[in-house]
Amino acid sequence: MNTPTLAIVVPCYNESAVINQTDSALGRVMESLLKKGKIDEESFILYVDDGSKDNTWEKIELLVRTEQNRQGLKLSRNFGHQSALMAGLNQIRNSVDCCITIDADLQDDEWVIEKMVEKYTNGYEIVYGVREKRDSDTFIKKYTAIFFYKLMKGMGVELILNHADYRLAGRKALDNLFLFKEVNLFLRGVFPLLGFPGTSVFYDRKKRMAGESKYPFGKMLGLALDGITSFSVKPLKMVTFFGFIVFFISIILAFYALYSYLYLGTVPGWTSITLPIYFISGIQILCIGILGEYLGKIYKEVKSRPLFIVENHIRNSDLANK
Ligand code: UDP
Ligand code: MG
Repeated sequence: MNTPTLAIVVPCYNESAVINQTDSALGRVMESLLKKGKIDEESFILYVDDGSKDNTWEKIELLVRTEQNRQGLKLSRNFGHQSALMAGLNQIRNSVDCCITIDADLQDDEWVIEKMVEKYTNGYEIVYGVREKRDSDTFIKKYTAIFFYKLMKGMGVELILNHADYRLAGRKALDNLFLFKEVNLFLRGVFPLLGFPGTSVFYDRKKRMAGESKYPFGKMLGLALDGITSFSVKPLKMVTFFGFIVFFISIILAFYALYSYLYLGTVPGWTSITLPIYFISGIQILCIGILGEYLGKIYKEVKSRPLFIVENHIRNSDLANK
């Protein structure tokens, strides 16, 4: 196999506090890989600016101008992490042999990139970066994440435990990824579905270098809901199941009411009327909510709006002539 061309894709949303540090760190990795002959000269880093409101894009422009083998992609507004990743992958998929996606805050050990490339050279099409420890994450983040994986598994969605969006994908995987036309994107659920030979590499997750997490609790909950409702219809089946149980209970209650009316002659108690009302209306609202989730999904898919809109793409070689 020839030496592969590698692209490192880095989504950035308001990352001006870390981007320069990130670039030097990734630059060092690239250089070392080049020296060892593990990647070829054409390899590059692509920064995707996901509609940042600070001066992230200006910093990216400067990096592209001053450093070799850097590219920048500017989205027209904030489309979200998953869409920013898709924009980056779409941009590079015809010009590289493999690519690695990594977060801009370098919480994921950048030196694992070398191991990922080795696995690729050994014939793996997808290499998942898996966190071994999560000591650096806050208590809530850690436990909500564990709960999330468990929940997804229970719902029948196959996920790689403790793997986020730090992964290597080969050209074949990339080309086929774009056959998935869904708007509700959950990349870490899609990659295992591709079916190509995959493997994992392990590392310890670090603290964010600077800046704040762009995944507050609300967004994480959104991602979890997206993950479940995009990959599993189990919640819908549960609705039907609930429906049956409630129906069954209400038949028994009806008989009971009839019996007490005919033979006991007592006025039915207040609790036996109000409790079922609370219970049933609670379940109804829950079920309507779940149905709504899926309805909303279908609505989005039917519109099939573009996942991202690119405003600008810059490369070192283009800027150098200006
Ligand atoms: N990100 C993005 N668009 C968004 C939110 C986040 O491109 O709307 C990027 C962000 O710049 C970072 C990565 O996605 O590179 C992961 O975000 P973050 O580190 O804040 O998430 P956490 O590690 O806290 O889950
Ligand atoms: Mg992070």
